[in-house]
Amino acid sequence: MNKLRFQAIQDAVIRLPKPFHNDQIKSSLFGSHVFTKKLMRRFLTKQAFTEVDEAIEKGTKINRNIADHVAASMKDWAMSMGATHYTHWFQPLTGATAEKHDAFFDFDSNGDSLEYFGGSQLVQQEPDASSFPSGGIRNTFEARGYTAWDPSSPAFIYGTTLCVPTIFVSYTGEALDNKTPLLRALNAVDDAATQVAKYFDKNVTHVQATLGWEQEYFLIDKALASSRPDIMLTGRTLVGHPPPKGQQLDDHYFGSIPSRAINFMRELEYESMLLGIPVKTRHNEVAPNQFELAPIFEEANLAVDHNALLMDIMGKVASKHHFKVLLHEKPFSGINGSGKHNNWSLSTNTGVNLLSPGKTPMSNLQFLTFFITTIKAVQNYESLVRSSVASAGNDHRLGANEAPPAIVSIFIGSQLSSVLENLEHVSKGKLSPKEKTDLKLNVVGKIPEILLDNTDRNRTSPFAFTGNKFEFRAVGSNQNCAIPMTVLNTIVAKQLIAFKNEVDVLIKSKKLKKDDAIFNVLREYVKTTKNILFDGDGYSQSWEKEAKRRGLSNLRKTPEALSVRMNKDVIDLFDSVNVMNAVEQKARYEIQLEQYVQTIEIESLVLENLVNNQILPTAFKYQSMLIENVKGLKEIYGDDFSKYAPVAMNSIEKISGLTEKLATACAALAKERTKANSMSKFDDSAQMYAKNVLPLFDKIRECVDGIELIVDDSAWPLAKYRELLFLR
Ligand code: ADP
Ligand code: MG
Repeated sequence: MNKLRFQAIQDAVIRLPKPFHNDQIKSSLFGSHVFTKKLMRRFLTKQAFTEVDEAIEKGTKINRNIADHVAASMKDWAMSMGATHYTHWFQPLTGATAEKHDAFFDFDSNGDSLEYFGGSQLVQQEPDASSFPSGGIRNTFEARGYTAWDPSSPAFIYGTTLCVPTIFVSYTGEALDNKTPLLRALNAVDDAATQVAKYFDKNVTHVQATLGWEQEYFLIDKALASSRPDIMLTGRTLVGHPPPKGQQLDDHYFGSIPSRAINFMRELEYESMLLGIPVKTRHNEVAPNQFELAPIFEEANLAVDHNALLMDIMGKVASKHHFKVLLHEKPFSGINGSGKHNNWSLSTNTGVNLLSPGKTPMSNLQFLTFFITTIKAVQNYESLVRSSVASAGNDHRLGANEAPPAIVSIFIGSQLSSVLENLEHVSKGKLSPKEKTDLKLNVVGKIPEILLDNTDRNRTSPFAFTGNKFEFRAVGSNQNCAIPMTVLNTIVAKQLIAFKNEVDVLIKSKKLKKDDAIFNVLREYVKTTKNILFDGDGYSQSWEKEAKRRGLSNLRKTPEALSVRMNKDVIDLFDSVNVMNAVEQKARYEIQLEQYVQTIEIESLVLENLVNNQILPTAFKYQSMLIENVKGLKEIYGDDFSKYAPVAMNSIEKISGLTEKLATACAALAKERTKANSMSKFDDSAQMYAKNVLPLFDKIRECVDGIELIVDDSAWPLAKYRELLFLR
């Protein structure tokens, strides 16, 4: 019996749910480890509070004395909560989060020790972070990187550490992280959307983007995971035969949650509540052992931070419960992968959701303006939207008949489709009073507040309007939401600016009334965006053909998707709204390509080791046993033996065939990898990994899974799918 796997199975079977008895999951816990505005009001002087509040709401600068005062209060509060260290918490371009802890401890000028955390420690730090990818930014500018306080995301205590959310930039100002471009994009969409919202309500001075993510993940027993080098090192299974029972019965979806998982979730929710993450929904997903967690939506920057933090907490809490949490987009072949829907909208300081149909024709015209402008933005930059979710992991999912295809299209439902049809026929120029009344009463005025198909169950659409928000469903479960959110808010900002210009030109040059001008511009947008709207089955082959005919891109693999970022129109786009300059964009392009290459390189090395050190030896051992068996039969029956040994003989031959094929594919893998690595340009390297290295994974897997079906179960070295996937 294979000892490691056997032990792991034993451990997993006898493992009782780790109880999590905390009856206190209640609203008073919420945010109790966060330095909230409420706390600030208590701890800070009135002047300091006003300054910090302005920095949060308007992005103004905080002066040095105030920063000292805020830092001192933050430290007092943190120490009263048992914190001993502080860290600048940031999101480097690796996509993960980073922290370097320092103690609240220093020497004064007399050499006496004291607790210290001053304004300068709060506002700015210089982590020795030279190992983070910078895409050449730091070399080019010979500049060091520093982290700077982002007051718009509150500080929090995690464990015994005060974490201060920060941006990470070079001394010459280039963003070295994911948060800085996001903040700039949110700023751009705020400015642009406020200008447009003012057409409808002069009191609007501020518009914020909102994000509600839905995080999918798998839970598997830690001991079983440890028996698999592929899961431990790559986050996914590279081999493994599908179990006889998978997700065919759909009996896991919304089913009762196993008690081990429930206890994990309760502790996760408890920890999240302390940190102010408003977790709300939990349920089983389609695949066995797959779950989802979703919070109430928040301002987008905060929501992005909260998702990054949650992914970190998940790993820690899972470990306590003897689980390994898999955030990979496709941990198991033949079983649904995981995504992270990004629900997105815009809301004003006057409390209006700009993507929610309202009660009056005027508020509905406002809704249509933002609704149609978003459609136009996505249509203009559909390939960039695709590229915002590109990663080696997500490539396994997009277009694999379980997740939206790599083709970006928008679902809006039948009611809004007919509204758009009516808008298409608006007259050019000045509208007659009759037409205007008619439009207001019968088109704009007739949009119901609750749309019938707002709970769209057509899950095949990558970008769906769901009643009062758009839902971007192609985001990968392991991704930092900052990248897709930066792209979405940037393209919408750009389009809103264009919209405002077009309307203003019509008002000035053609002397049109505001409403008439808006109808005129919207009409043209409706006419030119038809190709991106699609309400049918996104998984079907006919859609692929149809999309091609419509001129939509279908970028299946990461290298081609990322190459969009280097298109001139894309570079100009980010530059024009001050989200990223060309250098920052090129850096991100290179880093993401490099990550793609490294991911597949590591996977291929792990696969090769698995085959050579675990699969082939197991196959040969079993084959030798069969040979012994046949030899014995020969001893007994002499030349007649073959009559008595057809099954064993057949298996011996099958193993020979499969091991031979396997060794050949493995050798080819090593060769193609070396070739790809020898390319001097990352683009070429990445292309070769996609075209020549990856396809060999399937060949190898086929052989390994074939051997798994022949070899004695008790000798198999790796935990099998049926063991990994069904929590008891
Ligand atoms: P489902 O997609 O499962 O039908 P809901 O429609 O209730 O569920 O909402 C899904 C997610 O959308 C939730 O995380 C919720 O917080 C988020 N959401 C709801 N309204 C908004 C909004 N205005 N902006 C951003 N996200 C939102
Ligand atoms: Mg959803």
